[in-house]
Amino acid sequence: MQEKRDFYINGEWVKSQGGTDHNVIDPSTEEPTAVITLGSEADTNAAVAAAKAALPGWMATPVEERIAYVSKLIEVYESRAEELATAMSAEMGAPISMSRSSQVGAGSYHLRNFVEAAKNFEFSRPLGDHAPNDRIIYEPVGVAALITPWNWPMNQVTLKVGAAAIAGCTMVLKPSEESPINAMIFAEMIDEAGFPKGVFNMLNGDGVGVGSTLTGHKDVDMVSFTGSTRAGTLISKNAADTLKRVHLELGGKGANLIFDDADKKAVKRGVLHMMNNTGQSCNAPSRMLVQRGIYDKAVEVAAAVANSVAVGPASDEGRHVGPVVNEVQWGKIQALIEKGIDEGAKLVAGGPGRPDGLNRGFYVKPTVFADVNNQMTIAREEIFGPVLSIIPFDTEEEAVEIANDTPYGLTNYVQTQDTARANRLATQLRSGMVEMNGTSRGAGAPFGGMKQSGNGREGGVWGLEDFLEVKSVSGWTP
Ligand code: NAD
Repeated sequence: MQEKRDFYINGEWVKSQGGTDHNVIDPSTEEPTAVITLGSEADTNAAVAAAKAALPGWMATPVEERIAYVSKLIEVYESRAEELATAMSAEMGAPISMSRSSQVGAGSYHLRNFVEAAKNFEFSRPLGDHAPNDRIIYEPVGVAALITPWNWPMNQVTLKVGAAAIAGCTMVLKPSEESPINAMIFAEMIDEAGFPKGVFNMLNGDGVGVGSTLTGHKDVDMVSFTGSTRAGTLISKNAADTLKRVHLELGGKGANLIFDDADKKAVKRGVLHMMNNTGQSCNAPSRMLVQRGIYDKAVEVAAAVANSVAVGPASDEGRHVGPVVNEVQWGKIQALIEKGIDEGAKLVAGGPGRPDGLNRGFYVKPTVFADVNNQMTIAREEIFGPVLSIIPFDTEEEAVEIANDTPYGLTNYVQTQDTARANRLATQLRSGMVEMNGTSRGAGAPFGGMKQSGNGREGGVWGLEDFLEVKSVSGWTP
């Protein structure tokens, strides 16, 4: 078992001041894989003080130099990709092949997109021809607390650190206590890339400890949080007394609207998307809305696809899905599957219990429910496991009504060959993102949600803007 008790503060690895030990559990084996420290208030204060002290120097560093540090970081990141892949696989259960390609790949992708976005971003620009003496200046918000979840660990860390660094913010990262090791490797990479002391600080801790000390801290100017809607609410309340800026990327309950004229692969694509990362993605298309004309066939295909999804240990090579992250999450998913059965949804694949042959590890059967209605618990709650709910509809209006009838608004999906209908739906669905006919969003596209899915936008230009203040200056000499 690895011993990873130290924190990265002010450019050095330091011992905790009074923190407590915490075991990181490998969800494939249920055995501890590492021991870390959950930091104390003194540790948190030290990290914030380092970030505060580094702020004036980092703000004054020309943006080209800040971009150069992030470019160097990308080189280091790519050279140590395998370590990151192995760490994430062991701590949160992503199968190693997927961890290498998607989990690690997401990080370098986002960092590169920030570098590209920043090259064309005018940090100082004129207001317009009508006001030649007015200047608009984009300045860093200040000290940023970055709090991240375990499900796409490097994806989230890089979306925040890359943007904050280029914007000129200094920062304290608190990764999830479920998946801290990849973030500690990332801190070593920051060190190797030569970032000035105090620009990036990292400590481990839980939500009630380090998390709430950071979000209520008087010297923290903004919080960028990704995680559950529950924690997002608590953070907003805790941050209110100091009126800091709070950006939230929260949960989702995405609808995938499949019309009678959808392409032949639409159902299969939707099921596989749902099962990816063992259903642990905020943008998972977890409600499949299917038009009545193809409904029976779609249910049959969805069940067959789910039954074909292999489940196995994260350390095995291959295209299977791994376990879910921990025992609590496993228990919650089991309870929701039982609830689906109790409330009258029709179980067509998977169900309660572990898949055959897997007696240890937090494994869940890829599960599909048909004949779900949108008021059932499985259609309303974010399950965060490999569980798909299929809901029938007759008309386009009804589909939009069902899709929008949720507290969440992160990503919705549309499958139809009627392009006019697709474009119409893109404007009617209340979500931060709409993905149509299996087309992924492009590099640098903003990621984020509406309603209880949050309020920030991450990635590319919009991600940079999240970490910038807008200053309006008059009497400027051009
Ligand atoms: P979580 O909210 O339990 O924890 C996320 C992070 O917040 C962890 O670092 C945790 O220690 C910390 N935290 C928890 N309570 C806190 C508090 N009161 N104050 C400060 N920090 C606190 O979420 P999770 O289980 O790690 O992640 C899963 C959730 O994240 C899902 O709901 C998922 O949809 C969401 N998510 C959203 C996005 C997005 O971009 N919208 C991306 C990935 C995950």
